[in-house]
Amino acid sequence: MKTRQQIVAGNWKMNKNYGEGRELAMEIVERLKPSNTQVVLCAPYIHLQLVKNIIKDVASLYLGAQNCHQEDKGAYTGEISVDMLKSVGVSYVILGHSERREYFGESDELLAKKTDKVLAAGLLPIFCCGESLDIRDAGTHVAHVQAQIKAGLFHLSPEEFQKVVIAYEPIWAIGTGRTASPEQAQDMHAAIRALLTDQYGAEIADATTILYGGSVNGGNAAVLFSQPDVDGGLVGGASLKAEEFITIVEATK
Ligand code: PGA
Repeated sequence: MKTRQQIVAGNWKMNKNYGEGRELAMEIVERLKPSNTQVVLCAPYIHLQLVKNIIKDVASLYLGAQNCHQEDKGAYTGEISVDMLKSVGVSYVILGHSERREYFGESDELLAKKTDKVLAAGLLPIFCCGESLDIRDAGTHVAHVQAQIKAGLFHLSPEEFQKVVIAYEPIWAIGTGRTASPEQAQDMHAAIRALLTDQYGAEIADATTILYGGSVNGGNAAVLFSQPDVDGGLVGGASLKAEEFITIVEATK
């Protein structure tokens, strides 16, 4: 039994229409057994209110968003603010997913700003980091990930940082079926925790939840989550099937 908060977050990405989202959320509620693991459903914006209604009586289920805008309100056509997210019951916000960094040009500087907004609203960031295959092959992956964390998060005070969840997601493992080995995940998670220890001290670093993401599935979750510094997962494709997602949740200890 790990003492840190264990979390499994499902990142639905741009999948499921309204009816399909309802079915998925309802099936998750039906299948989920009580446990201390927090389960976060990061649904597309249009589903948030509905999913909140479906999960509201289940203590271990939380609502998450996949992104937010960095400004409070105003003339930003098509965007969603943290206040809007909060008003429908969102608890967690994924920030800096590699798809946002790559396809939407989200920089470290922008992500630092979004992190501030999320925290100021009383919401909890799930801050993503991870390296491309080129960087892994060049052997500079630890420095790359540590630089992302420093740039996005290290302006935070210790009190603020304690609210942050980190998700390590090697880009080469996302949606590819090629997961990091348990050793690769553990090595990176330990390197992240060492960096957090330097910056915020051992007590805060030891209490920080660090998720692994990248082709987590019902078959590999248990061995990944059994690594000492892996505190659960950020799950994409396998979060779209209730039965497999629940298997992954049950793989946390
Ligand atoms: P995947 O996605 O589980 O489909 O690899 C994970 C993620 O991108 O969060």
